Formats: sequence, C-alpha cells, structure tokens
Amino acid sequence: MWLTNCTVVDVESGAVRPQASIEVIGDRITQVVTRSDRATEGESATTGSSQHYDLGGRYVLPGLISCHTHLSVVYPFSATDETESAGLTTLRSLARARDALEAGITTIRCVHEQNRADLLLRRSADEGWAGVPRIFGAGQALSTTGGHGWGMGASYADGADEFLSAARAELAAGADHLKVFITGGLAHAGEVMEGMQLTVEELASVVRAAREKAKYVVAHAANSVSIAQALDVGVRSFEHAYELDDQTAKALAAAGAFLTPTLCVSRLADWMAQHHFTEDQIERAMAVGPSHLDSIKRAVDAGVTLVNGTDYPPGEPADDTVVAVREMEFMAQAGLDPIDAIRSATLNAARLVHAEDEIGQVRAGYMADLIAVEADPTKAISAMRDVSFVMANGALVRDDRPMASAGARS
Ligand SMILES: [Zn+2]
Repeated sequence: MWLTNCTVVDVESGAVRPQASIEVIGDRITQVVTRSDRATEGESATTGSSQHYDLGGRYVLPGLISCHTHLSVVYPFSATDETESAGLTTLRSLARARDALEAGITTIRCVHEQNRADLLLRRSADEGWAGVPRIFGAGQALSTTGGHGWGMGASYADGADEFLSAARAELAAGADHLKVFITGGLAHAGEVMEGMQLTVEELASVVRAAREKAKYVVAHAANSVSIAQALDVGVRSFEHAYELDDQTAKALAAAGAFLTPTLCVSRLADWMAQHHFTEDQIERAMAVGPSHLDSIKRAVDAGVTLVNGTDYPPGEPADDTVVAVREMEFMAQAGLDPIDAIRSATLNAARLVHAEDEIGQVRAGYMADLIAVEADPTKAISAMRDVSFVMANGALVRDDRPMASAGARS
C-alpha cells in the first residue's frame, strides 16, 4: 500500500519533504518517493494502481521511542506487592503499553519491571497475542539490600559475586540490557541522592555480565560522582542526572554515552498528586526541578547524546498531552532545538537500543512504524501534541481524520 500526500520529516537531515509517498509492504517501508523523484520517474511508476491511503498533507515522522519506562509500576510506590502474581503485573503493564502505542510510541525501553513483565509482554507480542509497542526490556532491575529498588520487586544482591549471578539471571531470562540503581533518588522518604549505593566491584560485575552477552548497562544515577565512576567502569546509559557538573557532562559526551534526563519527574506536580504521591514526595521532586534543568542544560551544551524517557508510563495524560511529548517540551526548555528533541525520541533512541538500522527513521527498509501530526514539529515541538495517525509494523493503530479518498485507485 501507498501512504500518499505525506510531508515527511527526515529526522537525520532535519529536512521536511512535502508531497511524498511512502510504500509499505507487510511490516516494512519499501520506498519513500518525493515530489522530485516523481518528476523524473512519472506518477504511474511510483504509486501505480496499488491501494493508497491519503494522509492529507500531514507531517509524517517515525514512531516514537521512549527509553525509560516502567509499565508495571504501582502508585503510590508503597502499594507495591512483591508477592503479586506475574499474571496480574503483566495485565497492568499491558494496559500501559497499549496507551503508549495509541499515543504514537511504537517502541519502548523498559528499565525495571516487576515479575519481568516487559519480557512476558514482548513474548506475547511475538506470539501475536497482544498489540503492544516493540519492547526492549531489562527484566528486573538490580539493587542492593535496602537500596533504591528495595520493596519495588527488584532483584537484590550484595557483593560482586551476587551481582554477577543476579545480572546473568536477567540476561538468561531474555533481558536486552541490564538496569542497576547506583544511587538513591526521589522516590522514597529519607533517601539521599549523594554518594553511590554500589561498590565499584559490584558495578564491574554487572558490566562484565552484560559484555559476556554483548549487552549494555543502564544506570539510575543522581549525581556526577557516581556517573563519572560508572562511566569509568563501562556503563553506557545514564538516567536522571539530577546533579550533573560540566566536567562530567563533557566526559559523557566524550565517551559517547547516552543520557535520559526524565525531566518529567521533577516538574509534573499535578500529575504526581493525581497518582497518589505524598506531599513530601512531590515537594522533594519539585525542589530538585531547577537544578535538574540546569544539569540537563549543561549536558546539552556539552553535546551529550540525549534520549527521551519519562519514568512514568509514556502514554499517560499530563498537561493536556502525554508525558512522552511533555518530556520533549521540557528538553526543548533545556536548550534542544525541536529537531534534536525529535531525534531524542527517534534517531538517538534507536542507536541506544542498537536498532538504528530498523527503527527511528522514515526510510526504505525500515519498519513501518509511523506517526503523523498536523503542523511542522521542526518549527515548534508543541506540534507533537497533535498526533492524529499511528501505524506500527505496517498496521494502522489509529487515524483521527481518515481521508475520504482512502481505498483502491483504479
Ligand atoms: Zn525509573
């Protein structure tokens, strides 16, 4: 089938190509034909007589990739039942995954799910039982006894040997990457963000296990000291960076590491209140807000590769949009151009999950994961609020304004 009358956003070059047509066969994009191609080849040589679907001039982008998701999370966190059945955890996660897909998030990277619900959902999708985004999963995060993941259904270990075996267990269960909490965070009363919760030897065990299987490590990391140490040990992907100094930002950029700012977590007070966070938690999160934004500004200035992630289920409504789009707006506030905010959820994110030849671009040979918006998002990132068309793996998920001309052309 041909998607016609598209204004394709080339996220790599930043160019916008009007009056383009996209051929989709099965789950792949097979051709992207622009106006100038048609001028040389002729209309009939391209869209021909096959089925076509008119996008009405809308701006077409690759499906979004959200890189810091917890589908199974319970609010308030204290209500987490570590003895909950995997079935119930997975059904809750399924609802969040579907919300994400509807919102145009066609790929998600999970970075801790109770009962490895991400790996169960991924299997369900592979079997054709559940329509969910493409999932890259960590299974359960690794945490120390009493560490940041304590009480959240994480995998607990102490000492280098225990971390090595806990890490190998997640990989054996099918994890695509390993997640480790190396500092405290905002979630729990009395937590401190300073210092490091793992020894260098424990962290090195996790990196070693990942490398044995050509995988990588994702670290929840609040501060510069822990990020610098983890970078030295070989961690590739960092989350939050509430306190990031210039020197560490430069080190992240030089190493080609990835940073997921999750600015949402220090800015959405109303959302937190609606989701049973305590006043104390909300206060603590908002208090970190200004320094968190300054930290991410330093990362932008240093040229760190940023990826979009929300910590919250990415399709959750917030501020009259969904949190994944709100996060793009926050990243723009930190200094990203609109096209770089888009890249954080497409091109950069695809590289992070080692799928840059499959997803993250509207290009021949790539998966037919496509979204469309009404206005040019390279001019103003808020255009991403109006996703009106979603296609995943070549199948239509949603179209809020189907064109009358859709159908077979004779
Ligand atoms: Zn998280």
